[in-house]
Amino acid sequence: MERVALVTGGTRGIGAAISRALKAAGHRVVASYAGNDAAARAFAEETGIAVLRFDAGDYGACEVAVAEIAKEHGPIAVLVNNAGITRDTTLARMTREMWDVVIATNLTSCFNLCKLTFEGMRAAKFGRVINISSINGQAGQYGQVNYSAAKAGMIGFTKALAQEGARHGITVNAVAPGYIDTEMVRAVPAEALQKVIAKIPVGRLGQAEEIARAVVFLAAEEAGFVTGATLTINGGQYMT
Ligand code: NDP
Repeated sequence: MERVALVTGGTRGIGAAISRALKAAGHRVVASYAGNDAAARAFAEETGIAVLRFDAGDYGACEVAVAEIAKEHGPIAVLVNNAGITRDTTLARMTREMWDVVIATNLTSCFNLCKLTFEGMRAAKFGRVINISSINGQAGQYGQVNYSAAKAGMIGFTKALAQEGARHGITVNAVAPGYIDTEMVRAVPAEALQKVIAKIPVGRLGQAEEIARAVVFLAAEEAGFVTGATLTINGGQYMT
């Protein structure tokens, strides 16, 4: 059955792989992005997937976007909260702005979009919320108190909202990727990246498609008994 799926940050990296995979699974996908119009245009042309620019961390912008998607495509049934950024440094050097923008983009975005779509899912007696967390929210990471807090927060958010959705046909799950071969990870200095890879038992970075596969599984009608879970996909780097 074709359902409307919103993938935030769905035009690049892991999000782009998720958007493609959901489309291939028969969903009507809208991929959002923050500001890289060129990448979004190229993605839309290549895939035929609708793209929409708005800041997922801004409640007012999300409100406008959700209304526009409902008008153009129908109510959102599958919500993938994937938009994320890092602003890494030690606590001593971290500014309040670096804290705020990481919390807003990674965590407050989940609140914004769940708040704006949950009633619709309840009315439809069906919904799938999938929050893209991180290994660094599970294990912690030097230089990432902001990002680790946001990603750990997403896991708590997932477990709490799963309880609210359970009787209404809405599942809420998290996926916690390890190190995936995307621009975000390629920005890590080569020497540091080699040290990371050395700690991954499977001996390589993950591929975005390996995360997308899990999202398609969780979005399916048949996954209705899976809720409040965190699916850890990290090549064995951190076993929970
Ligand atoms: P990328 O940097 O490759 O892509 C990020 C996407 O998010 C882009 O489409 C970007 O839009 C969008 N985005 C950024 N800020 C906002 C915002 N405020 N509102 C809406 N969209 C926004 O990221 P990755 O693919 O590497 O990561 C995707 C998710 O997976 C993130 O949540 C990340 O934290 C998580 N993750 C990634 C890991 C990895 O190894 N890569 C590991 C664990 C978790 P634009 O193109 O306009 O900039």
